[in-house]
Amino acid sequence: MNPLQMVDLKGQYQRLKPEIDAAMQAVVESTAFINGPQVQSFANSLADYLNVLHVVPCANGTDALQIALMALDLPAGEEVIVPAFNYVATAEVIALLGLKPVFVDVLPDSMCLDPAKVRAAITDKTVAIMPVHLFGQCAPMEELMDLAIAQELYVIEDNAQAIGAQYIDAEGGTSFAGTLGHIGTTSFFPSKNLGCMGDGGAIFTQDEELAAVIKQIANHGQQKKYHYSRVGVNSRLDTLQAALLEVKLQHLNDFILRRQKAAATYDSYFNEVEGLSIPSRAPYSSHVFHQYTLQVIPEKRDALKDYLQQAGVPSMIYYPAPLHLHEAYAYLGYKEGDFPVSELLCKCVISLPMHTELTELQQAFIAEKVLRFFQQ
Ligand SMILES: *Cc1c(COP(=O)(O)O)cnc(C)c1O
Repeated sequence: MNPLQMVDLKGQYQRLKPEIDAAMQAVVESTAFINGPQVQSFANSLADYLNVLHVVPCANGTDALQIALMALDLPAGEEVIVPAFNYVATAEVIALLGLKPVFVDVLPDSMCLDPAKVRAAITDKTVAIMPVHLFGQCAPMEELMDLAIAQELYVIEDNAQAIGAQYIDAEGGTSFAGTLGHIGTTSFFPSKNLGCMGDGGAIFTQDEELAAVIKQIANHGQQKKYHYSRVGVNSRLDTLQAALLEVKLQHLNDFILRRQKAAATYDSYFNEVEGLSIPSRAPYSSHVFHQYTLQVIPEKRDALKDYLQQAGVPSMIYYPAPLHLHEAYAYLGYKEGDFPVSELLCKCVISLPMHTELTELQQAFIAEKVLRFFQQ
């Protein structure tokens, strides 16, 4: 049995090596390392895949969020709603741009923004909502979009973790995660579902004017060569990464199926275990399992993590503390108890190895350890 890892990047590379090597070698030979033709070609392919009109590649998923927010030209001090249970990047860019992050609690099952609590948090200073499609599943976008439309708010979807996930609307129609709001963003960090060999990100929108502004901002605010119409940043996707991503995008549906199959296998082991809940599936979303995250009773979570570590099974706590309780955001004045669901989740969650190369043998080994812990 191969060693267990949270993510098996090497195994995936070895399986796809001939295609990947050829695509990357072509860039090396061409020496067009910056803005080579593969960058636009990948952007076009991703736009086709997501059924979105405009894709602007950039340097990483955090830049994507920052550029998306910059493109909306929001006045400093205005409020932007983000989930309290999340990776830091979404809140960080709000604060960096002089806007005010307003944390909101999440739903206990899907762990994404709770629309009822979003509604309660909207004030006359609220200008945008940034839902995060956490762990591979869509936030309840229709309810959030209804709120946003009624209150004239922008919506930026942080889709770093759910590329390829489908939102299912009330009529049964589907749209890809990240294409329902005004702007969507993603990350190609190596461990993400569509990961590159370094940093990368992208911004998508159906809005032609916003797309033009986003392109300018990502390129030093440049309208035409050496003519700067606004203050921008330098945020590019390397040609080497774009060439690799073009290859991997052709496999994204297969990657998703492999993750879903692995999740179903885990489910079959853990379905009936007392003190443990398998990941819930929202009726309005497919799940692409960026993470396979169990919820365990808080008294047992850390002991389970230690037990697994002793047994040679890696696991991770995404996330150990909600954002409102971190020192960096203390200035916002939140306190413990403000977001009980997020706070409890931080004590309950544990993510098991989840990637495209998991074997049934590996999963049986992992499951046996988890089950043994709960039987002791
Ligand atoms: C990974 C991630 C990001 C940031 O992506 P980087 O490419 O690492 O900057 C942002 N938001 C979420 C939810 C993420 O998981």
